Amino acid sequence: MAMLMQSLSIPEILLLQWGMNLMRYTVFAGGAWLVFWKWFYPKWKARRISPVDPTRSQIRREILASGLSMTIFVIPAGVTLYTARFGISKIYFRADQYGWTWYWLSYVALFIWHDTFFYWTHRLMHWGPIFRRVHRVHHLSKDPTPFTAFSFHPVEALMESLAVVSFTFILPVHMGATALFALFSLAFNVYGHLGIRVFRHDRGITKYLNSPESHGSHHARFLGNYSLYTNFWDHVMGTHLPPVPPK
Ligand SMILES: [Zn+2]
Ligand SMILES: [Zn+2]
Repeated sequence: MAMLMQSLSIPEILLLQWGMNLMRYTVFAGGAWLVFWKWFYPKWKARRISPVDPTRSQIRREILASGLSMTIFVIPAGVTLYTARFGISKIYFRADQYGWTWYWLSYVALFIWHDTFFYWTHRLMHWGPIFRRVHRVHHLSKDPTPFTAFSFHPVEALMESLAVVSFTFILPVHMGATALFALFSLAFNVYGHLGIRVFRHDRGITKYLNSPESHGSHHARFLGNYSLYTNFWDHVMGTHLPPVPPK
């Protein structure tokens, strides 16, 4: 694996990244759509967060914007993978290089880094001039669907991809850990945009994790609940809001 990654050309790296992005979006966003909004819709219907039906044109717009985002994601990811062979980025390919303890610790560090990076860049995105030019594209989906997950303006797509990529220039991280993290991150992202309450976030650790209701509330009100995985920064900064009552 290490040898293979070191020998890939730039177009091959970009194509590999793009294929992986497309695959994970299709599996998670498409899978969630089929499971919750098609195959088992009668079971979940009563738990919808908004009574407004997603239109075909909304879903088409979200998929097209997500396709463009996934194309943009490959550029910083490609820089990370390519520059690793010159020791510039700290991404590595052999787990025994830093050991399995660091492999999993780096995953936790990545989680904390991304949770923080997302909160603050998301708040920046809500600053008037940037919101109107950039973040508005994501908020065109007032009632999000699983396909909203990557529905960004190209500038926001670039910013999003810098979250994980920037980490690889600070601390060593195994390529497998970044790939695993990317899967987890998209799964959580799709969950936040699901538009359906799967379970209550009112006990144990679930109280500190974001939910389709909390992020759905952000889409409905355009303010508050800016965080991604945990609501830590929203609580610290006083931006945590209870979900909006059903319309
Ligand atoms: Zn969103
Ligand atoms: Zn927002």
